[in-house]
Amino acid sequence: MTESFRPVLVIHGGAGAISKESITPEQATNYTQSLANIAKAGIGIIENGGSAVDAVTHAVSLLEDCELFNAGKGSVFTADETHELDAAIMDGLTLKTGAVSIVNGIKNPVQAARAVLRHSHHAFFVGEGAHRFAKEHGLELVSPDFFNTEFRHEQLLHLKKTNTKKAVLDHNAQTLASKRKAPLDENNKMGTVGAVALDSYGNLAAATSTGGLTNKQIGRVGDTPIIGAGTYANNRTCAVSCTGEGERFIELVAAYDISALIEYCQLTIDEAAHKVIEKLTTINGVGGLIAVDTQGNISLPFNSGGMYRAFAYQNEEPRVAIYDEEPFCI
Ligand code: ASP
Repeated sequence: MTESFRPVLVIHGGAGAISKESITPEQATNYTQSLANIAKAGIGIIENGGSAVDAVTHAVSLLEDCELFNAGKGSVFTADETHELDAAIMDGLTLKTGAVSIVNGIKNPVQAARAVLRHSHHAFFVGEGAHRFAKEHGLELVSPDFFNTEFRHEQLLHLKKTNTKKAVLDHNAQTLASKRKAPLDENNKMGTVGAVALDSYGNLAAATSTGGLTNKQIGRVGDTPIIGAGTYANNRTCAVSCTGEGERFIELVAAYDISALIEYCQLTIDEAAHKVIEKLTTINGVGGLIAVDTQGNISLPFNSGGMYRAFAYQNEEPRVAIYDEEPFCI
């Protein structure tokens, strides 16, 4: 890379947020502070000479560990009152990928995805095979009830009371738990997490992790672990992590579409990212994405009520935002 570029790390905690009307100042602070801390930790890896792959793995691991978000601990429940977690990672330099799906015994699914990328000649493991692979590579294993949280269980019970067979996007925990009057807008509550980064060597990477949809049928796989749909990175173009109704992102091959629009149509990252969100709207899909190009230009569009998001350029303070305000420092 000859032109100058700005190393950066961008994260999301899901497209859709507690409605502006119902979020309390404490909740807003909780989210923004967590996002800022995680963005700072992620860019710290890059500032210390780490790779984009290291930075997105670390940031997504921290997001998985944070119960506010629907990934790792804090993941939503399936219709069978179990958890099935998905994660993927892609290295823009080598185009190598790693993904796991339908796992419930690996503490940090993104680290399992990373282990697949690094150690396997396969790209994608599911269920029992993914657990076996994680064990063989020394990852931290947990019992399935590790992922149980009361507020997610309440979400499922609440949904089941409505007698729906439908799987729905993540609802914000506190909104339910506090029984505030905010409507449970099924299209506006998503808590998947993701990160994209450009490191100081000019390499791009993307990672995404999710518990999926509340009340999803067991065996259902969304866009998150599907390379090209929910996650994509290529040093020629960009790195992308998506959040939203997975089936729609799969239909659009959304993350790869952004890369293709840049590579074949010479769109800027912002034009390409917005184009894909426009397409999503056209097919009645709801969600958002984070994207970074080879220069460190970023785009964070969404068509939902909000998207938990933050970014940090090297040696700068992180900026965070939830709704359609300009990202700000806290
Ligand atoms: N994309 C995720 C899925 O469909 C859900 C989300 O973004 O919250 O599994």
